[in-house]
Amino acid sequence: MQKNRYRIYSQYLKEKYGEKVYKIPINLPVTCPNRDGTVAKGGCIFCGEEGAGFENLASSISVTEQLQRNIAYIQKKYKAKKFIAYFQNFTNTYLPLEKFKEYIYAACEENIVEISISTRPDCVNDAYLLFLKELKEKENINISIELGLQSVNYHTLKKINRGHSLAELIDAIIRIKKYGFESCVHMILNLPWDDEEDVMEGAKIISSLGVEQVKLHSLYILKDTVIGKMYERHEFEIISLEEYVKRVIIFLEYLNPEVVIQRLAGRAPKENTLFCNWNTSWWKIKDAIDERMETLDSYQGKKFDYLNGKALRRFLHT
Ligand code: SF4
Repeated sequence: MQKNRYRIYSQYLKEKYGEKVYKIPINLPVTCPNRDGTVAKGGCIFCGEEGAGFENLASSISVTEQLQRNIAYIQKKYKAKKFIAYFQNFTNTYLPLEKFKEYIYAACEENIVEISISTRPDCVNDAYLLFLKELKEKENINISIELGLQSVNYHTLKKINRGHSLAELIDAIIRIKKYGFESCVHMILNLPWDDEEDVMEGAKIISSLGVEQVKLHSLYILKDTVIGKMYERHEFEIISLEEYVKRVIIFLEYLNPEVVIQRLAGRAPKENTLFCNWNTSWWKIKDAIDERMETLDSYQGKKFDYLNGKALRRFLHT
């Protein structure tokens, strides 16, 4: 049997919960401070009207109904019994605290073992975390927080109009850890303004912060977005699929082997997409990464040797 060359999310969930667990997306009627003018207007240059929730049910449907409908489908298809309620789209903590509580309470159903909340690094606040900690203890439900970062290069963060820098991510992770929750950081490994050094640095920063999970995305470009217009004007080039595979491997080699990998490439809506995954399905990209790692005898953590005062090693091993 082939050995796993990186830590696979589905296996991690099986170890943690003793059986298969599926993530159920929930779409809330929220927006994002980077879109409504609080932080910036218009959002990240790649953000489309639907955010990341293009496969989700409408946000006008109640949390309970979205859960029921999605669970019924997954239960039938995969015979699953345990689920993660995944508040996926836009910035799910960007709500008045009482409203936020209401939505989260609605997801505390018997078969929900975890609540996963997707948000921005500048929308992580102690009051919200304290509520989640009390909920975790009362309802015996795990909590995880997913944070969009995309790049650790602060010049790139500016270029893509993230509206925050690396400092907010560091603050959010430290805060989330204080409350005992796991975090997942989202990274796009083929942003046109990033190079291999940025990708390597991203893995090193995520590892040194003790982040538990990562989700890797390949950039997709939608029509009528700022980046879409730049793309149509040929203002930047996108690296090749081979280069993307190389970057994923660099990232994984520098990453702490304990970090769980939720995903290796992104998925895009079929409509209005100018560029996505080099017209290749995400599973073929995954296969290409697996094969390349096998050929190179590469594995997650192969170069994870830079923490704990590396330069002092010569004194400790003599
Ligand atoms: S933070 Fe997320 S929701 Fe907000 S503008 Fe950026 S991609 Fe869109």
